Amino acid sequence: MNSKENVKMCDYGHTYVKNSDCPTCPECEKERKPDTGFLSILASPARRALENNGITKLEELAGFSEKELLAFHGMGPSSIPKLRNALGEKGLSFKEEG
Ligand SMILES: [Zn+2]
Repeated sequence: MNSKENVKMCDYGHTYVKNSDCPTCPECEKERKPDTGFLSILASPARRALENNGITKLEELAGFSEKELLAFHGMGPSSIPKLRNALGEKGLSFKEEG
């Protein structure tokens, strides 16, 4: 009965159990992530690109075409399929080109 060794406490007082040496606190990780799901699946530069253009919701994302999104600084082609999936899950899609 020595499970105590796996219980850790982070700087913010969250206690959590980790079996590895990874010091990351899951509670803090959660708070650091954007609550909007589709932003949390993106790499940071792509996420910032959307945020800088005022896009924080899927409904707002749906107002842009793939071409327009790719023109944002930081937005890479690899992010597009992820965003398309996220839109699809809500029954949305990118704006039609042209
Ligand atoms: Zn924490």
